[in-house]
Amino acid sequence: MSEFVIPCPPQSALPVADSDKKFPVRRIWCVGRNYADHAREMGHDPDREPPFFFSKPADAIVSSNSVLAFPSMTSNLHHEVELVVAIGVGGKEINSESALEHVWGYGVGIDMTRRDLQAQAKKLQRPWEMGKGFDQSAPVSALRSVSEIGHSAEGRIWLKVNDSIRQDGNLNMQIWNVGETISHLSAFVELGAGDLIMTGTPAGVGPCSTGDTLEGVIEGIGRVTVSYVDELS
Ligand code: MN
Repeated sequence: MSEFVIPCPPQSALPVADSDKKFPVRRIWCVGRNYADHAREMGHDPDREPPFFFSKPADAIVSSNSVLAFPSMTSNLHHEVELVVAIGVGGKEINSESALEHVWGYGVGIDMTRRDLQAQAKKLQRPWEMGKGFDQSAPVSALRSVSEIGHSAEGRIWLKVNDSIRQDGNLNMQIWNVGETISHLSAFVELGAGDLIMTGTPAGVGPCSTGDTLEGVIEGIGRVTVSYVDELS
């Protein structure tokens, strides 16, 4: 007999590239405005203010190659391609010099955003969750371990909608690098093994619609693709 009164929810997880193993996902943290060109396109001055964070539920993860129903309650669904950091060793108040020792590996994700709901929340000074943390809002590639690929402070990051390149940047354009981001975030919350950090997006965010296929790539790290359909058959 289980000690639980209902069946336990499934463990959210991501595949590990070229392996049968999976990475269990505990929480998903996201960094806002971490590339100057994206901060500018959103109407902000990209000065080096401390980074700010928001989150998505762990079960917002969807694996690459998924076919998804177009999300409810939006007519302005935006893509934000991002480097995803997978935390393997937790900690709090981590200093930026040793922060990379906490990283298990990396992937590429798309911070899907119901921009109309986010804009409304900003205007009314309400939380962002319904714009950011909705179901299936975090497509993420298979992860690759640091032991396989090391740490990259640079690398092309781009996203295509169908055949058209919409975002095209480089990890070296991040305002806060991975170590600094981990350090700041771990001052607010104690990071745990299984936490993911989506580290912000370069310029070129924009809408996508039913029938579109999104493909996000980071050189040397991975590739994620999802398609939106009207109704799942
Ligand atoms: Mn984002």
